Amino acid sequence: MNMDRLKSALRPETLTFLPGDDRPQDECGVFGVRGHSDAAALTALGLHALQHRGQEAAGIVSFDGQRYHSERHLGLVGDNFSRADVINRLQGAQAIGHTRYSTTGETILRNVQPFFAETATGGFAIAHNGNLTNGLTLRRDLVSHGAIMLSTSDTEVVLHLVARSLRPRFLDRFIDALRQIEGAWAFVGMTDDMLVGARDPLGIRPLVIGDLDGVPVITSETCALDIIGARFVRDVRPGEIVVFSADGMESIEPFPKRAMRPCLFEYIYFARPDSVVGGKSVYAVRKALGRELARETGVEADLIVPVPDSGVPAALGFAEAAGLPYELGIIRNHYVGRTFIEPTQQIRQLGVKLKHSANRGVVEGKRIVLVDDSLVRGTTSTKIVAMMREAGAREIHFRLASPPITHSDFYGIDTPDRDKLLAATHTLEEMRDLIGADSLAFLSLDGVYRAMDEGARNNAQPQFTDHCFTGDYPTRLVDLEASKGSHAPRGLSLFAEAG
Ligand code: AMP
Repeated sequence: MNMDRLKSALRPETLTFLPGDDRPQDECGVFGVRGHSDAAALTALGLHALQHRGQEAAGIVSFDGQRYHSERHLGLVGDNFSRADVINRLQGAQAIGHTRYSTTGETILRNVQPFFAETATGGFAIAHNGNLTNGLTLRRDLVSHGAIMLSTSDTEVVLHLVARSLRPRFLDRFIDALRQIEGAWAFVGMTDDMLVGARDPLGIRPLVIGDLDGVPVITSETCALDIIGARFVRDVRPGEIVVFSADGMESIEPFPKRAMRPCLFEYIYFARPDSVVGGKSVYAVRKALGRELARETGVEADLIVPVPDSGVPAALGFAEAAGLPYELGIIRNHYVGRTFIEPTQQIRQLGVKLKHSANRGVVEGKRIVLVDDSLVRGTTSTKIVAMMREAGAREIHFRLASPPITHSDFYGIDTPDRDKLLAATHTLEEMRDLIGADSLAFLSLDGVYRAMDEGARNNAQPQFTDHCFTGDYPTRLVDLEASKGSHAPRGLSLFAEAG
């Protein structure tokens, strides 16, 4: 093992050990590039475009042909990776990066990706978007066989599986590892001589390939290609591993073919509106969701007001279909993060106030339709309705461009435990009452499918994974099942809570 390289990748200051952060991996953004003299700077730009996918921490690992370099920091990409000294330390023409999102009370540096390890086939760095539903079970097995885990992230499990495989070639080891994991995963990885991308067999999380004047890029969303001027080549196919090396591009499809089930929530909330996910413009889908919402839940009103920013495209579509004026009755302060990532309910509520303020002149005396993309805990909607009332709105009709979220997510979108999901525990009328709106209505699931241009949901073989709305999980929830059995691995209480 080349200790020098290992030391350089795991800089001492990045290994701050704090006990306690045992939450699974959450929604994130990944980026990788190979064969460009500004690999780290391009990666930083890509991560900046993916900032909406994770604001808690970011990291980049680069390889200069001899040594791996790693920078992992808490906070926003721009705050840490716009500094020349940081980028200059990330030498080399190959780099991968990760931006992390998690609702844990404590984000600790040891969980910040990409992860790096020396294995029998050389250095290997990996960044992960998604969540393994058997991560804790695998982790227990590995630890019981002597593995020493440096983080509490399920991504590290993949490093171990690669390191322990007995196959001589790296790619076979990687495939060995992928065959053992279950759940949602979009990986970008890097070895001494290749950049790899891999997507789970159902394609739950997105992953795309780009081209920057012959230089390959792999990333979560097309908006990260746009920022560096790279051309979109194609999506990584579900179950596909793409490899870029000196020999060009190789595509490996080691899994039996299955009907894909990309996550609906990427379209509803998570992806950036200017991204194209699975061939569909996220912006166009969101507007169509708003149009369907108007058709299904239209109401007499004077104005359509979006909850910015997440409700803007749907509100535009709603206004268009309803033939009503669209007005900015709420102004958003862009210099605060997403409310959802704040660790406690108290702070979250404060966050909503920091983020939105009423545009009194627009809403005073008016019957308004407030449009947002989704309702999770109800924090945003409750605050916003109160704010609109204070500003003098005469009637407030709340409309959500997605169905009620009744089930937790186990695939990397960090919806909270079921008991904190408003729609899982309240009737429509109870929710309306709690939020304080004059009326409340959600888009139907078939309405979502129609907006996606899919006709209705095919119940025998749904076109997307819509588990948040239906509880129809497309993979086994191994850790959750184990936690309910008698052999619950240590730490599984977290998944039990989430179920
Ligand atoms: P809540 O206030 O808890 O009902 O959350 C609703 C708001 O959070 C909406 O404005 C959504 O745009 C946003 N949202 C929905 N899902 C998520 C998520 N997984 N992460 C962060 N924000 C979300």
